[in-house]
Amino acid sequence: MEHQGVLAVVSGFSGAGKGTLMKELVRRYDNYALSVSATTRDPRQGEVHGREYFFLTDEQFEEMIREGKLIEYARYVDHYYGTPREYVTEQMQAGRDVILEIDIQGARRIREQFPEALLLFVTAPSAGELRSRLVGRGTESPEVIEARLARARREAEGIDSYDYLLINDDLDECVEQAHRLIQAQHLRVENNRKLIENIRTELDRIQGGGEIPGTF
Ligand code: 5GP
Repeated sequence: MEHQGVLAVVSGFSGAGKGTLMKELVRRYDNYALSVSATTRDPRQGEVHGREYFFLTDEQFEEMIREGKLIEYARYVDHYYGTPREYVTEQMQAGRDVILEIDIQGARRIREQFPEALLLFVTAPSAGELRSRLVGRGTESPEVIEARLARARREAEGIDSYDYLLINDDLDECVEQAHRLIQAQHLRVENNRKLIENIRTELDRIQGGGEIPGTF
């Protein structure tokens, strides 16, 4: 039987370099499937519908909510963001490790629905570094940068509910750390229930003196 994929959530302060980290993970390794979220915010320069996000109107987004097509959704600086359900379940069943790049509110809802999910939080090495990355990106107005920094301050309170903290100082190292953590998640007991059940059944059979499949 194909092993089910792991569900990994990656959150982090705006400007921590999550996007680059995700792209690099997918480029280096075959087994990752990146979930594309739906949002009602406008595309930034260079963003493509269906690649960075599905850019929807408020009406379209609210229809997805009503029809139960989102695993979770949240409001973030005046816009909706949400995770389409179908892709995530399909890919996990196909044995691929699915990564969701979503905020803290979304991560909490994922944990409720998928207790075996891995929650990673990405930060820059310092607050000063965060601000200069946001300013250097040059895509946001000063007001939006301030709003994102204020939100980062509130989000800092929620880091405790994550499993691991990734410090994105050296990108290369951060990518490898994320990869190792996600792969280790496959080995967790709660992700191997089926195998454990099989071993228990076989142990019962051995004790009963029955034949063990696969042995001579
Ligand atoms: P941005 O506008 O910079 O692309 O994303 C803003 C925030 O929305 C980020 O913190 C990002 O992680 C979060 N986000 C993106 N997609 C989703 C989603 O599907 N669900 C939730 N809850 N948050 C999301």
